[in-house]
Amino acid sequence: MKILVINAGSSSLKYQFIETDSKQVLAKGQCERIGIEGSKITQRAPEKADYELVSPMKDHSDAIKMVLDALTDKEYGVIMSMDEIDAVGHRVVHGGEYFADSVLIDEKVKKAIEDCIDLAPLHNPPNLIGIEACEKAMPGTPQVGVFDTAFHQTMPAEAYLYPLPYEMYTKHKIRKYGFHGTSHKYVAGRAAAMLGKPAEELKIITLHLGNGSSITAVDGGKSVDTSMGFTPLAGVMMGTRCGQLDPAIVTYLMDKENLDIKQVNDLLNKQSGVFGISGVSSDFRDLEKAAAEGNERAQLALDMFVYSVKRYIGLYATVMGGLDAIVFTAGIGENTATIRKAIVEGQEFLGISIDDEKNQIRGKECDISAEGARVRTLVIPTDEEMMIAMDTAKLVK
Ligand code: AMP
Repeated sequence: MKILVINAGSSSLKYQFIETDSKQVLAKGQCERIGIEGSKITQRAPEKADYELVSPMKDHSDAIKMVLDALTDKEYGVIMSMDEIDAVGHRVVHGGEYFADSVLIDEKVKKAIEDCIDLAPLHNPPNLIGIEACEKAMPGTPQVGVFDTAFHQTMPAEAYLYPLPYEMYTKHKIRKYGFHGTSHKYVAGRAAAMLGKPAEELKIITLHLGNGSSITAVDGGKSVDTSMGFTPLAGVMMGTRCGQLDPAIVTYLMDKENLDIKQVNDLLNKQSGVFGISGVSSDFRDLEKAAAEGNERAQLALDMFVYSVKRYIGLYATVMGGLDAIVFTAGIGENTATIRKAIVEGQEFLGISIDDEKNQIRGKECDISAEGARVRTLVIPTDEEMMIAMDTAKLVK
């Protein structure tokens, strides 16, 4: 099947066009600056010249039209007509408690996505706009919603509830939802395939370490706990997000620094993490360079990041009562050997040990475990788009 995968942001729209039987990416591209002056679309397809067109896109409907034009373009395109698009899969950030799996989109589903806007005010509105734009441009083509939160809906109540008055959960839906679910699900599935065992028999910790980072305990193929929470601010320290804090710090800061809600949110989301500690950058490549040149705060930021990740390995091994594999994925997890090494250092007592040479791998699937290590350490590039395409094809079939 040929599936168009759409990831709509507030002013951008990324897409991939995937043939799911051969798992081949036929084309990928993005529309940038939607609704802003200078909007443009770029597309890459194997064996075709790169396509770039600067043209006004006043909204996401215009952007979708440009995507369809690019895909069907005589010179740069990969299909003759949009009838060849069998279905569209949409990344949707928040599915609340409504969705534990991907779903065919209808009016009820759209209403549920709308109901979750309060929980993801920056993400769900553009996701919904992307869906409606596709409905308009391709009436009758099936559309599927794939939710970042869905994979984590299997967490038990003791893992997802916060120790607040219970009414805060029933009244305001305050609970742990977890994010990056599509990525965790994908790499956990690939890990089972690499280990040659059914997912049901495995206890895996998936470490999605990128600009945003989250860690998940996957027991028997199901998420039983994850480090992000009610929002993607929770858990490990990130590029600019603080991760876990004593919650009392928030009100204390507001008082001492005279901050309003927006300002304190900004401080925790955009000025903290490795960027806040180092004062250098949120990008790990910059931090490694600065640390190598003797910048102590850059080194401190890296050490703090490693420490905050490491703690989850112990925590989730205990939560699952055992461990068969850990998986590194996303920008840092796939590419940064020094960070991987630092995270697993001293974990031999758990059965984790890596081979320094194999650990030099970048962006490729690889078992980097040392010989004889009881727990396998895997590097698996994440592929959320492929996961979305496969889920979409499965539902449409
Ligand atoms: P992500 O959010 O998954 O794109 O990850 C971004 C983070 O991965 C940044 O902190 C990058 O510094 C880090 N990273 C390290 N090496 C690479 C690489 N070769 N390509 C992309 N990101 C990298």
